[in-house]
Amino acid sequence: MHRSGRAGRAVIVGGGIGGLAAAVGLHGRGWQVCVLEQAPSLEAAGSGIALWPNGMRALDALGLGAAIQAVSTARAPARIRDPSGRWLSRGDTAAALERLGAVTVLHRADLLEALRRALPPGVLRTGARVDAIAADRTGVADEGLSVGYPGGDAAGDLVVGADGIHSAVRSWLFPDRPGPRYAGYTAWRLVVPPLRPGADQAVSGETWGPGQRFGLAPLPDGGTYCYASAVVPAGQHAGDGELAELRRRFGGWHEPIPALLAAARPAAVLRNDVYELATPLPSHSRGRVVLLGDAAHAMTPDLGQGGCQALEDALTLAAALTAAPSVEAALARSDRARRRRTQMLLRRSRRLGRLAHLRNPVAVAARDALLARLTPAANRRWLAPVLDWTPPDPTTGGR
Ligand SMILES: Cc1cc2nc3c(=O)[nH]c(=O)nc-3n(C[C@H](O)[C@H](O)[C@H](O)COP(=O)(O)OP(=O)(O)OC[C@H]3O[C@@H](n4cnc5c(N)ncnc54)[C@H](O)[C@@H]3O)c2cc1C
Repeated sequence: MHRSGRAGRAVIVGGGIGGLAAAVGLHGRGWQVCVLEQAPSLEAAGSGIALWPNGMRALDALGLGAAIQAVSTARAPARIRDPSGRWLSRGDTAAALERLGAVTVLHRADLLEALRRALPPGVLRTGARVDAIAADRTGVADEGLSVGYPGGDAAGDLVVGADGIHSAVRSWLFPDRPGPRYAGYTAWRLVVPPLRPGADQAVSGETWGPGQRFGLAPLPDGGTYCYASAVVPAGQHAGDGELAELRRRFGGWHEPIPALLAAARPAAVLRNDVYELATPLPSHSRGRVVLLGDAAHAMTPDLGQGGCQALEDALTLAAALTAAPSVEAALARSDRARRRRTQMLLRRSRRLGRLAHLRNPVAVAARDALLARLTPAANRRWLAPVLDWTPPDPTTGGR
């Protein structure tokens, strides 16, 4: 809404999952939207992403559920093995699917493309790295807010900082807060094309070994989305390439991990050290500037919830802006709805990451024994608060 209460103009910094979802949500509610993305194009590096039912509910509410289903596979939540292939966690796949819902797996580029297609031409400006915001640090400017990038600027009644974990908007809003902290492990992601015809690639699950982990999930085109992590100091890179590093670390684990690594292309492997925003922000907004997604609450990937939370944030923001009497009131409402939940998930993700990356053999044995005793009901109870999210009522904005 404009300060007068009408739908107004929004400038969104960052064209990732959260920024594009916010753009779709706001555009659908009559806002004029401009998304500024630093990358020259949206072609994401070739990794996959898993979306839990809460993230899919957000996409459904944006009107994109069917488009996403068409390019995804649905599978039961992952079960866990040890490096020899022995199942550590029990579970009835059909019951898990029925009670928790499916995990939707797709190429990340397909998710971004579905969001982009839901926007009219001209909304997304690529090659626009935001380096200035004209407002005082209360997030207010009398003449409207203005966001600058080399070669241009964009003005709005609302600025959305959806610029990821190293957010410039967050640093500008909260210059004294500590930045992201290294979580202690690095992560690899890769998509492996279908193995030879007839090979069973439709396997999924995670394998936990001492201090490292490998996960796989089938993609709709017969390929496999693989991810792995290992406890190492920050900033390392394999001199002979990351695929060679993965083969060294995981090539002796149970099939199909070695077969997948043998079929992978070196250029397909992405490596990122894992960071999280360990010190919570006092608020996700100030005045008429709001943060969402990783900019607001970057969490480790252990729960597979970072992207899902960016989608929830976007939906909640759009609903609040529809229902509240002013932008400031809407951002305060959205902050109340989001901060506690995202902090709870951030802590759970961190705890799960620590459990998955234990290295001490005694601790690993104790953990594995615990996993074997964990009943499907206990697992469901643990996951319920993660997955139990429904989009806010658009008429009340989730008040
Ligand atoms: C290894 C790994 C696996 C993961 N797996 C999953 C998963 O399975 N499921 C899940 O839900 N989540 C997963 N996540 C988390 C998920 O990737 C993030 O939480 C999600 O991408 C956050 O979306 P975002 O839009 O907030 O930020 P981003 O996706 O980081 O997007 C931010 C965008 O802002 C742009 N930008 C940055 N600075 C500027 C600037 N100054 N000006 C203009 N543009 C700028 C960037 O180029 C980028 O396009 C995983 C993360 C990792 C590291």
